[in-house]
Amino acid sequence: MPRYVYDFASGNKELKDLLGGKGANLSEMTNLGLPVPPGFTVTTEACRAYLVSGAEPRELHDEVMAHLEALEKRTGRRLGQPDDPLLVSVRSGARFSMPGMMDTILNIGLNDSSVAGLAERSGDERFAWDSYRRLIQMFGTTVLGVDGGLFEAALEETKQEREVTDDLDLDAEDLRALAETFKRLIVGHAGRPMPQDPVEQLNLAIRAVFASWNGDRARVYRRREHIPDDLGTAVNVMAMVFGNLGEDSGTGVAFTRDPGTGRPGVYGDYLTDAQGEDVVAGIRNTVPLQELERINPEAYEELLGIMKTLEDHYRDLCDIEFTIERGRLWMLQTRVGKRTAAAAFRIATQLAEQGLIDADEALHRVSGAQLAQLMFPRFDTTAGVEPIARGVNASPGAAVGRAVFDSGTAVRRALEGERVILIRHETNPDDLEGMIAAEGVLTGRGGKTSHAAVVARGMGKTCVCGVETLEVDLAGRRCVAPGGVVIEEGDLISIDGSSGAVYRGTVPVVPSAVVEYFEGRSHPHGSADLVTAVDRIMSRADERRRLRVRANADTPEDAERARRFGAEGIGLCRTEHMFLGERRPLVERLILADTPQERQAALDALLPLQRRDFTGILRAMDGLPVTIRLIDPPLHEFLPDLTELSVRVALAEERARPDAEQARLLEAVRRLHEQNPMLGLRGVRLGLVVPGLFAMQVRAIGEAVAERRKAGGDPHAEIMIPLVGATAELAIVAEESRTVLARVAEETGVDVRCPIGTMIELPRAALTAGRLAREARFFSFGTNDLTQTTWGFSRDDVEGAFFAPYLDKGIFQTSPFETLDLEGVGRLIEIAVREGRATRPDLALGVCGEHGGDPASVHFFHTVGLDYVSCSPFRVPVARLEAARAAAAESRR
Ligand code: ADP
Ligand code: MG
Ligand code: MG
Repeated sequence: MPRYVYDFASGNKELKDLLGGKGANLSEMTNLGLPVPPGFTVTTEACRAYLVSGAEPRELHDEVMAHLEALEKRTGRRLGQPDDPLLVSVRSGARFSMPGMMDTILNIGLNDSSVAGLAERSGDERFAWDSYRRLIQMFGTTVLGVDGGLFEAALEETKQEREVTDDLDLDAEDLRALAETFKRLIVGHAGRPMPQDPVEQLNLAIRAVFASWNGDRARVYRRREHIPDDLGTAVNVMAMVFGNLGEDSGTGVAFTRDPGTGRPGVYGDYLTDAQGEDVVAGIRNTVPLQELERINPEAYEELLGIMKTLEDHYRDLCDIEFTIERGRLWMLQTRVGKRTAAAAFRIATQLAEQGLIDADEALHRVSGAQLAQLMFPRFDTTAGVEPIARGVNASPGAAVGRAVFDSGTAVRRALEGERVILIRHETNPDDLEGMIAAEGVLTGRGGKTSHAAVVARGMGKTCVCGVETLEVDLAGRRCVAPGGVVIEEGDLISIDGSSGAVYRGTVPVVPSAVVEYFEGRSHPHGSADLVTAVDRIMSRADERRRLRVRANADTPEDAERARRFGAEGIGLCRTEHMFLGERRPLVERLILADTPQERQAALDALLPLQRRDFTGILRAMDGLPVTIRLIDPPLHEFLPDLTELSVRVALAEERARPDAEQARLLEAVRRLHEQNPMLGLRGVRLGLVVPGLFAMQVRAIGEAVAERRKAGGDPHAEIMIPLVGATAELAIVAEESRTVLARVAEETGVDVRCPIGTMIELPRAALTAGRLAREARFFSFGTNDLTQTTWGFSRDDVEGAFFAPYLDKGIFQTSPFETLDLEGVGRLIEIAVREGRATRPDLALGVCGEHGGDPASVHFFHTVGLDYVSCSPFRVPVARLEAARAAAAESRR
């Protein structure tokens, strides 16, 4: 017998899957003895049942009624009771917080008669009519689907008629009239009247919250945050408390620490005589929470006490919604708060130092994605550019782009490949797509708790808000800064989310403090310092991880940087770029060679160049392994374009000045032309059909090793054969390589033996790994090609062609080129690991595709038992951190 409804007193914070985050935390606060208005939670299970069948499960109605009755008994009032109504809010709350994404309806239970009872009981007629018109407005838009703009317009009109600018200046009579107008709007646009039966109101509201799970905003947000579509939302029904009962009432939001920096302190916004979302919406100007100390010292003291209780209990930064009704404090919500990347690192380090959390928990509290954010460049403030305006530094980062003034334009221009900055008075959930598309967000109003700030921080997107000196003219698609500086749509601007500065044009950027630290150019100083926090976490990460981390690097410069960033070797050194530029003619000679002598001459010319390449890289990575991949791409990539060359040859013939050399080249290009180069003559196939090519590369490696060793170095080259599908391919090439190396050893008197291994980038290789391992000392999973060949699509062709609809339709959660496809590609890797190790227990295993630097994929590589991941030098710290987080997560389980 499923239970669809939980009283707040019967849940707890661990039940987020069932009760949603909001419901679980309301329960937790209730059980901590904090002042939470009573209520109950309808489970996500009920929502899922509704979403699947389109109707509420049969038992739900009875359970809701039973809990309503209990609530009525407890408060001594019935829902909508005419002389003294119990009123409730109906609030959405999913497993993962989706700020402003779904709908909440306040004041359920008011109708034409209970509004009078409320006026009577509260002694405040204005308040009662204000509450009623709010209910009609919210109910009309979220439950009955009437365009919210109509209500807003009617409200504006009333204010104009009364010649006031503030809602607070409307009196009871105005609001009564407004309620009537709103009701007429509902009849006119929803084709039914505002329901007067309180229970009907409640049931319809619950259903609307269920349905809002599939609203556009919620979908967009989930896609962006990779939240599964089938979780559903819980619904919280809670007795109303009122912040809009005059000067001794109000509502606010608070953080137990600064979510921007992580520093402890009193942090939040408060609004006197207001209800619900007035604070977050940025409609009226809030005061800093500290002001509450003056306005209501007792409530302020109590709030500070509760904030401490919550932070100690959750052992983390909490954010809080509260309301004061006639001097009495009520807690309406708490959760572990979103924070910037810098705050995450500082908070985790500080709490670990205080002994509130252990080292593994500290690793759990930060992420590779956050570390990557801290590595983004910042503006060069020494460049002497003056800001045109300043606002609140709501979400850090340095964003440059063209000014746009609406979400649609932001999306359109971003699709055209432009970087844009979205400028609004304030944002609301309808701006979400534009915010996602933009590099950064700039608003004229609102503080650190405004919608723009909260959402941008959640996304890790740069945001400056509340730039009050900026006159935003949405209709004119422009804004004007002090001194008459005009920014038109399409003009370039730069915004600094760390300082709140807004600049005209493009400001130069410099490396972030964290990158300077990894580069060894700055050092930890002081416990409040971000670099100190990163340093502590990274030291812990390096102790904790089992996976080694290498870098993909093709040049000595990249190798050196990778080393500074903590790489423990090179997992992939590509050689193809060593055949481009001024070496191209040599490659052409090689391809066009008619005789073995000609071919050998070309190879002989390439050999010393290759040797120099390898010597440089082995020197940069002295003492650490360097996996060198023999040449991989199809040969035609080194030749001129077919069409261009055809035209050139044809023109020459037309002018009766044929060029024999060009004609021969064209012949070769035609011969090598392929319909599907990705599946063509490349990798090991090339080594097997172009005589001497691989041998030249192997000789260059051997000679480089000998040279380095003679110079007193400690080179560790490894030779990697790409695109192997059959064991025999590898066996032939490996045998040849060993012969070449033996010859180099003889010539130089230095032992230059190197491990020879293969990439696993074809399903066939993965499926025959047991046999391949007889010939290979190591495997390196080339997950880019392995993804392409497993799915049968080429990345370059398909990403633009159909990934967007595939993501839309939920066929992909993320691009398989970004995060490893565990079901398919992951399974092949598992098979190859198991069967490869069965043949050769000391088989070394690594990954060198871009997935090697992707957090989710790194966790998989840890679990499946690889020895190392290899990624671009810049991602190395991210991989180090995620490898440790994977190890810590494993112990937690
Ligand atoms: P969101 O998920 O968008 O934050 P909430 O469910 O928290 O939505 O509700 C919106 C606003 O209404 C919040 O400011 C909240 O504090 C307020 N609110 C919700 N329930 C009540 C209640 N029972 N009494 C007073 N205010 C409420
Ligand atoms: Mg909501
Ligand atoms: Mg809320």
